[in-house]
Amino acid sequence: MTTTDIRTSLFRDLYIDGVWREGSEGGRFPVLDPSDGSTITEFAIASEADCDAAVAAAEAALPAWSATAPRVRSEILRRAWEILTAEADVFAEIMVRENGKSWSDAKGEAGYATEFFRWFAEEAVRIPGDWRLSPAGDKRIVVTHRPIGVSLLITPWNFPAAMATRKLAPALAAGCTTILKPARETPLTAAYMVDVLERAGVPRGVVNLVTPVPTGPAVARMLAAPAVRKLSFTGSTEVGRELLKVCADRVVNASMELGGNAPLIVLPGADLEQAVDGAFLAKMRNGGSACTSANRFYVHESLHDGFVAALTARLAAMRVGPGLDRTNELGALVSTGERDKVAELVDRAVEEGASIAIGGTPSGAGAFYPPTLLTGVSHGSTINVTEIFGPVTAVVRFTDVEEAIAQANDSEFGLIAYVFGEERAAIQVATRLDVGMVAVNRGVVSDPAAPFGGTKQSGLGREGAGEGILEFLETQYIAVTA
Ligand code: NAD
Repeated sequence: MTTTDIRTSLFRDLYIDGVWREGSEGGRFPVLDPSDGSTITEFAIASEADCDAAVAAAEAALPAWSATAPRVRSEILRRAWEILTAEADVFAEIMVRENGKSWSDAKGEAGYATEFFRWFAEEAVRIPGDWRLSPAGDKRIVVTHRPIGVSLLITPWNFPAAMATRKLAPALAAGCTTILKPARETPLTAAYMVDVLERAGVPRGVVNLVTPVPTGPAVARMLAAPAVRKLSFTGSTEVGRELLKVCADRVVNASMELGGNAPLIVLPGADLEQAVDGAFLAKMRNGGSACTSANRFYVHESLHDGFVAALTARLAAMRVGPGLDRTNELGALVSTGERDKVAELVDRAVEEGASIAIGGTPSGAGAFYPPTLLTGVSHGSTINVTEIFGPVTAVVRFTDVEEAIAQANDSEFGLIAYVFGEERAAIQVATRLDVGMVAVNRGVVSDPAAPFGGTKQSGLGREGAGEGILEFLETQYIAVTA
């Protein structure tokens, strides 16, 4: 039995008010290993009563937790960082098992996810405030921050750890209590993290874990509870849009990290090797199942053929297979359903005129899809306007930089863009892109110390950095007679 087997056999239940327990109405759903379709374990289904109990526990724990000294909250978060750092291999293995990603992607995510606890341990003791005299001199203007209150945190399956710690760490640092609702595909990573937080000293009721099936009605019910004051959601734009409507009923504060359709532009004059290295990372990190994944590759005609040849060679050299074999560089998609969606998009692209340089044909059992590169993709074609969420590079050739900028901006999404080129020219292009984040001559931007988020239908608000904790705080102004 591996360490993961021990953990997953222990943590397959709900966590409410500091107690691990089955759902009140019984019932479990299977958690599958996408590399072979086998059942890892069966996870408890949360009933309406369980969701109500989680809200009640978070409400009851709020006064004491929000009054806890920032230093105490900070030290608990720091302990969570220490435990997760020491147990990085267990953390990664759970993700590999239930999500299908490669070992190196899982280790990368474990490290990134863990860092949010260290970063927000440091932010907990630096919550900003202000004091000034009014212009008329009649009062002191005191600006302070209060924890927003009970926060519902909903996360997707693609980064089952980091999307949760990016919410849990700032919420707890701010003094909020929480209910975590992970994706149905990946509840084990969430349960393991909740166990870590319990071991780090988080008091009962401050973090609760529920997995209702179906999700929509249970989430709407929790958002209707007067105690719930915040929704922090990461997932698809489609679901996010629906949840914003639910939030509107009670004017619940909502942060939304939604879908993307990232353009990657290779400008004339770009260093080809740097562009290929960056493009490989921007596309293949997490097997392409990332909201930040480069989706639309606009490559200048002067570099197009060299770029395609070099990237195709990189993709051809990738080892594909189950993540528990640590030599494999590309793991499985999260489910055969997701694999089939990617396959349909590629077939459709070919029907719409694209050519396959490599890949394009899934083979064997398990939710694997091969590294694929398409050339001759047109701006506006189906694959160009759809979030692919798989290891498929779709290349559009361009001749005019102004046209490439216009095409990059021609999207309902605005999460991130990548620009490769001579630095000054690349930064000039970056400032003209209507997105929340731009990577210049590099393939990854994510950093707990940087504000993560998008424009347009990619979301509302920012996670990480100093901004991340403000999402869980209300500004309060106190007027004091001078
Ligand atoms: P999803 O929207 O299907 O699910 C996300 C979460 O919402 C899951 O926990 C799911 O159970 C829950 N959910 C589903 N239907 C719901 C409903 N009706 N009411 C309430 N909750 C509901 O997304 P996914 O397929 O898990 O994740 C992929 C999507 O997430 C992609 O679009 C990706 O771009 C996006 N994403 C965005 C970011 C970001 O930071 N912007 C990061 C990671 C993923």
